[in-house]
Amino acid sequence: MHCTAVHCKVMDELNRLSIDSRVTVRRSGPPDPAGTCVVYWMQRAQRGLDNPALEVAVQAANALAKPAVVFFAPVPFYPRANLRHYRFLAQGIPDIAESLRKRNIGFVLRRFPEHSLTKFCEEIRPSLVVGDENPMREPESWRRSAAKKLSTPLWTVDADVIVPSKLLEKAQYAAHIIRPRLQAQLGRFLVPPKNTKAGVAWRKPPALQSLDPEFEITQGWPLDASVGPVSDFRGGTNEALRLLKEFIAHGLGTYGVKRNRPEVVGTSRLSPYLHFGHISPLTVALAVQKADAPNEDKKAFLNQLITWRELAVNLVRFDPNYDNFECAEPWAHRTLASHAKDNRPVLYSERQMEHAETHDSLWNAAQMQMVNTGWMHNYVRMYWAKKILHWSPSPAEAYQIAVRLNDKYQLDGRDPNGYTGIAWSIVGKFDRPWFERPIFGQIRYMSGESTGKKFDSKKYIQQNSVP
Ligand SMILES: Cc1cc2nc3c(=O)[nH]c(=O)nc-3n(C[C@H](O)[C@H](O)[C@H](O)COP(=O)(O)OP(=O)(O)OC[C@H]3O[C@@H](n4cnc5c(N)ncnc54)[C@H](O)[C@@H]3O)c2cc1C
Repeated sequence: MHCTAVHCKVMDELNRLSIDSRVTVRRSGPPDPAGTCVVYWMQRAQRGLDNPALEVAVQAANALAKPAVVFFAPVPFYPRANLRHYRFLAQGIPDIAESLRKRNIGFVLRRFPEHSLTKFCEEIRPSLVVGDENPMREPESWRRSAAKKLSTPLWTVDADVIVPSKLLEKAQYAAHIIRPRLQAQLGRFLVPPKNTKAGVAWRKPPALQSLDPEFEITQGWPLDASVGPVSDFRGGTNEALRLLKEFIAHGLGTYGVKRNRPEVVGTSRLSPYLHFGHISPLTVALAVQKADAPNEDKKAFLNQLITWRELAVNLVRFDPNYDNFECAEPWAHRTLASHAKDNRPVLYSERQMEHAETHDSLWNAAQMQMVNTGWMHNYVRMYWAKKILHWSPSPAEAYQIAVRLNDKYQLDGRDPNGYTGIAWSIVGKFDRPWFERPIFGQIRYMSGESTGKKFDSKKYIQQNSVP
């Protein structure tokens, strides 16, 4: 009788967790009571702090009175990732290990070719596997495949957005449409995470293979090393928290006036950390919310972090053409098609652009900022992409060049924000039609002359002179 009551309580708790709005049940069924632990399959949310997916795994483990174990296994074949990205990822691993240790959670680090989740689960026999979410097509396909292969239930948790992206149900067509929908949910989701400790410690079976967190996981991998690591950004949760603190102390209070000045440090520079999941958008938003700074600056920042970032996630989640020209709205297709045959007095090859060999020193500086530091300021990113449209034989080619260069050099590349920024710049996605002009049609134009007058462009060009 007593046993049944306890069992019911456990099942109630697991049921409560599985119907959480952040959770998607990918493989249903009751967690195996004979399993040895609950596994968190870490992919997108590479942190042990403020991680809703890890939180679900730990709470499930505690309900089952079993240990929680994180399984993290990087692979060298993520599309368009190179040595620069992997070094940043690797720098974050010791911080993950440290946070997990403090929370009494086990950690298994493997790498290609020992990266198989199913093989790991066969070795360890978990009661339940919890993963995180990433709307991009490759990681989504890995989750679907894991759901077919695993013999335990698989839940995934939308851990890197503030409002779970599935709640928006369909594509949102503009920032002003998604904004009130997100705002309406903030009371429910913008709340301090619990960071629950695991109640039962995990004892690693001696024969179970796991790498030391300090191991250089890229060693021996055939990565594209033509894009080297950068010294301007160091990966990891600790560094992300330091940058956040610095931004709140010195940048947030002037964000409204300085955020469009690429020659000064006026923004958070947190995008690489948000991309790799080294910091949670919840951590950032909560810290900004409670900071002592003018309301309009906080509002402007949260508009980027929440409205624009989650609009980008929405685009990737609901539009399979998120990274190509086909994601354009009908008005943009029409206007660009009607200017397809316009004379293009200046044409550059992708190679010339990649090497910053254009006549435009502001554009070259933007390209070099990205090549040398792994990051480009938002204001010049818009100009940079629009000029690629100006100088390419067709909008479709311009789109692909922008995607390739962005994904290759930006530490925050290969991200929903990147595809949305390129779509906004080149095909007017989430923008509106402007005045008709050659090549661009009704796509908003940015001239070098007027863009360069809005900030100290001479200084910016000096700071990022070739090479
Ligand atoms: C052509 C183009 C390409 C871009 N490529 C990327 C990319 O590959 N990866 C990427 O993360 N961002 C990209 N962006 C969006 C934006 O430029 C960067 O997120 C921002 O510059 C990062 O700097 P920060 O962290 O200092 O931003 P902050 O101004 O401090 O903003 C805080 C956070 O809000 C989010 N954010 C800010 N601006 C935007 C925006 N316009 N759209 C969506 N989210 C935003 C980011 O997560 C950012 O880290 C691109 C924009 C354009 C126009």
